[in-house]
Amino acid sequence: MIEKNDRGRDQVALVTGASRGIGQAIANVLAKTGIYVVGTATSEQGALSIQKQFIEQDLQGHALVLDVTDADSIKEFEKQLKLHAMPTILVNNAGIIKDNFLMRMKDEEWDNVINTNLNAIYKITKICLRNMLKARYGRIINITSVIAMLGNAGQTNYAASKAGIIGFTRSLAKEVGSRGITVNAVAPGFIETDMTQTVADAQRQQMLTQIALNRFGTPIEIAGIVKFLASDEASYITGETINVNGGI
Ligand code: NDP
Repeated sequence: MIEKNDRGRDQVALVTGASRGIGQAIANVLAKTGIYVVGTATSEQGALSIQKQFIEQDLQGHALVLDVTDADSIKEFEKQLKLHAMPTILVNNAGIIKDNFLMRMKDEEWDNVINTNLNAIYKITKICLRNMLKARYGRIINITSVIAMLGNAGQTNYAASKAGIIGFTRSLAKEVGSRGITVNAVAPGFIETDMTQTVADAQRQQMLTQIALNRFGTPIEIAGIVKFLASDEASYITGETINVNGGI
């Protein structure tokens, strides 16, 4: 059953990369507000674990397999998405890092990061936008990063992809604002997830010195702002990038 909110709209949210970390927290937090959530993972196993979580917590939603770098996977995903319900809330969260200094960076590392973090946002948003335009309502929330603004040695590919998201967000907001669709970005700082587990201890300590709150963030602290941006209370915010970084 798909919940209707106070304006009678069907509330369906799509969260890419919902199997772990920030995406998992976003999917759960949105589902707990009564929104029907479609969460994606790159594998059947990942999708099953999302599904299991929804069932265990008695939340409305289901999971789909999606590899945003694979054209066939996107095609099948689109088919499956249309079979059930198209989202009016889209959270473009899936992302990867492949760090290397530019002179050592392989084309594959550059391409993988740009394809997963940036090109995918173009593709997945396009799939979802038609339905939002028809509904004259939508919430698009793109997960960028503090690195888009600060830069970081060894992350030219990642910084470029995340900075691209901010430009995309501002521009699309101008394109679709008149149709009741808001487009915003959230820029997390250092959040404890699988992605940041590989950072060396010395580097973690060095990063901590630059964070006013003197600690790393948690996925739930990102999910909270996404929940707000997806809500009716955020209806006059668009084209913005909200920093959630503990004061870097
Ligand atoms: P995780 O590595 O914990 O999770 C990444 C998620 O993205 C997983 O669900 C993964 O699916 C999915 N994913 C990876 N590759 C693909 C792909 N090709 N197609 C579809 N889905 C894919 O990352 P985080 O939770 O830390 O990061 C989530 C987002 O937040 C990313 O965009 C990241 O750049 C951003 N971010 C994270 C920060 C941090 O400190 N953690 C800081 C700033 C931004 P699967 O499980 O199937 O592999």
